[in-house]
Amino acid sequence: MTRPATIKTQVSSGGVIYREEIGKEVEIALVAVKDGKVWSLPKGLMEKGEEASETAVREVREETGLSGKIIEKVGDITYWYYIKEDNAKCRKTVHFFLLEYVSGSTSDHNWEVDKAEWFPIREALRRLSYKGDQEIVQKAKEMLSGK
Ligand code: ATP
Repeated sequence: MTRPATIKTQVSSGGVIYREEIGKEVEIALVAVKDGKVWSLPKGLMEKGEEASETAVREVREETGLSGKIIEKVGDITYWYYIKEDNAKCRKTVHFFLLEYVSGSTSDHNWEVDKAEWFPIREALRRLSYKGDQEIVQKAKEMLSGK
C-alpha cells in the first residue's frame, strides 16, 4: 500500500492592482501561467519578516512589473493541492489586497509568469481560471464602486 499523504501548509499574499482612466471602465492586471492557459491574480509566498501587505506589493511588482499602493484588504482564499514529489497535501491560504496603480509596465513582468496584462474588470472576471480569484475580484469591484 502507498504511504498516506502528509499535510503541509503555505501562506501567500497577492493583489488586485487597478487603474481608472477618465471615461473608461476600471482595469485590473492579471497574470497568465501554465503556458499562458491559466489566468490568475499575481501572488507569492510570504517571506520571513514580511507583513502580508508587503508581500502583496512585492509580488505584484515582480510578477506584473507594476508598482502599486495598498488601499485595503480584500479577503483571503483557501485551497488544497497535491505536491507529488513530497506525497503531501497542501492547504494554502492566500491574502489579497486592493492596490492602486502608481507606475510601471506589464512588459516588465518576471519569468515566473508567461504574460501580464490589463483587462477591464468585467472581462478579468470572465478570464480568471479559479473561483477563489473570481470571488476576490468581485469583492474588489464592489469596494471600488462604493468609493
Ligand atoms: P505562489 O504563487 O504562491 O508562489 P505556486 O506558483 O508555487 O504559488 P500555486 O499557484 O498555489 O503555486 O499553485 C499550486 C497548485 O494550486 C496548482 O495546481 C494550481 O493550479 C492550483 N491553484 C493555484 N491557484 C489556485 C486557486 N486560486 N484555487 C484553486 N487552485 C489553485
